[in-house]
Formats: sequence, structure tokens, C-alpha cells
Amino acid sequence: MRRLATATVLALGFATVPLLSQLPDVQRHLDAAREAAGNDHVLLFDRICAEAERIAAPRPPRTARRGPRPTPPRESWYAEPVQVFDNLYYVGMTDYSAWAVTTSDGIILIDAIFDYSVEDEVIDGLTTMGFDPADIKYVVVSHAHLDHAGGAKLLQERYGSQVVMGAADWDLLDERNPAWKPKRDIVATDGQRLSLGDTTVTLYLTPGHTEGTISTLVPVRDGGRSHLAAAWGGTAFNFGPDRERLQMYTDSAERFRDIVEEAGADVLIANHTNFDGSKTKIPALATRQPGGPHPYVVGTDTVARYVTVAHECAQAALAGL
Ligand SMILES: [Zn+2]
Repeated sequence: MRRLATATVLALGFATVPLLSQLPDVQRHLDAAREAAGNDHVLLFDRICAEAERIAAPRPPRTARRGPRPTPPRESWYAEPVQVFDNLYYVGMTDYSAWAVTTSDGIILIDAIFDYSVEDEVIDGLTTMGFDPADIKYVVVSHAHLDHAGGAKLLQERYGSQVVMGAADWDLLDERNPAWKPKRDIVATDGQRLSLGDTTVTLYLTPGHTEGTISTLVPVRDGGRSHLAAAWGGTAFNFGPDRERLQMYTDSAERFRDIVEEAGADVLIANHTNFDGSKTKIPALATRQPGGPHPYVVGTDTVARYVTVAHECAQAALAGL
């Protein structure tokens, strides 16, 4: 009898998890996400809707990390700096992005990548592009994970750059206290307009991936034509089957989609190169014909659909819990 009960539980356990996507509510959101993704946001869909399907599955226990992680070899991550718009430069790695917004009075950096790569990518990259990295006045950290926040402390200490993060992410760093933690400078507020010289970027608190995640709108110019870039600050569902966090994520995505639509954001930038298509768009820039279409100018509908994918995948995850 006992054996039978165990067998039933096991069978149920294995039967329900892989069939999650057959739950009608989950399937409805996965379908909506796939439709929103179209051909433009396939990698985003593949990553986070797959996470949504797995979110209720049992996870292997985490093995504690011993000591600091080894620094990966430079040839595995180094990318050249690239001018993407008149006033926006890519100074990130092959997989992790950092964006430099140049203004009439210095530079706003969006994301600081890793402690081991910030020097080669951001500092040397800006120098190569003809800028002085000491002009980085603000470092907006989309969220307080090592791959986006790791380099902030070095910029803060060397150049006095002011680091901007959401309150909850400052608290997260205080709690974890990593060696790369910058000192608390600016606590971002929702709708905050961060101005430097002739340029204002707008910050929105979009909790989900972390509780202090910041998403950003950045005005950019291409040959004098104005566009508006949107950056969704946190993407993956790395927090597991947490209903409250998923609801937070869902609400933030819904709201940010309205914001990008209303503002008319027509350019998408992300903090991972897979998600915004940078791995094809940066090479495409190099072969762009004068006056030809700009690979990063995708139109408001495509930008909004990106956020819709995030929204629908999060709802699929919620529906499966
Ligand atoms: Zn993260």
C-alpha cells in the first residue's frame, strides 16, 4: 500500500511537470508570447518561456561555491567598442552589454559589466573611441548582479562616477556584501529624469528579476534623426517558483510596455547581447550603406512586443505554479 502510494506520487510528480505547457492557461500565455516574439525576439522567447515551463519543476540543490570564481580568459569575452548611434556606444562584452550615452557634459554609462572586464571594455573602449573615461558622471546599474554591477566600484573609486541603483538592490548588495560592492550613491526613483548636459535619460523601477531592477529610456540620434531607445533592465526568472516575484515581474512588464508605447520607443537595447540581437546588429552596422536602415531602429511595435514576450512568459510561469 505504502509502495503504491509512493509510486502514485512519483508518477504524478513526473506526469505534471513535463506536461505543464498542456495546462490551458499556461499554453495560452506561451502562445501569446510566441506570437509577440515573431521572428524578432526568438532568443528571448526561447530563454524565458523555457524557464517559465520549468519553473515549477524540482531543482537540483545548489552546490555552494567555494572561493572566488576564476576569471574567464579574455579571448572568451572581449568585444571591440562600437559606435551605435551619434550619442550611444557599445562598450560591452560578447555576451554582456554596457552602453555609454555621450552628452555635452560627460557620459552616462548604462551597466558596468564585470569587475574583471570593466577596464578592458568600458575604460579602454571609451578611450579608443576618443573619450575620457574620467567623464563618466553616472553609472546606471540595471540590477545588482555581478554581470551588470561588478565594474561600478572601480569607476566610482577611480573617477568619482556616481552609481545609480534601485533601493532594493542597494539593500541586496549590503546583505550579500560582495568584494565588488560600490558605496551607496544615488537611489533611483520611479520616473526619475537623470540629466547630464543636453541629455536626459528616464529611469523606471521595474521590480521582478531583482526587486530594484531599473528599466531605462534613452534618447539617441542617428545622423541627427532622433530616436528613443528602451532597455528592459532584468529578464530571466532566476528566482524560482516565487509567486509574489512573478506577479511583480508581470506587473512591471505590463507597465513598461505601456511606457514604451506611449513614449514611442523605436530602438531596443538590452544588457545581454542575445536578447536585443546585438550579435547580428553590431556586425550589420559595419556594412550599413550610407542612409540605409539602422539595424537597431526596429520600430515601436517591435520594442513593445519584446516587453510583451517578457510579460506573457511571466504569466505562463504564474499559471503553472
Ligand atoms: Zn541578473
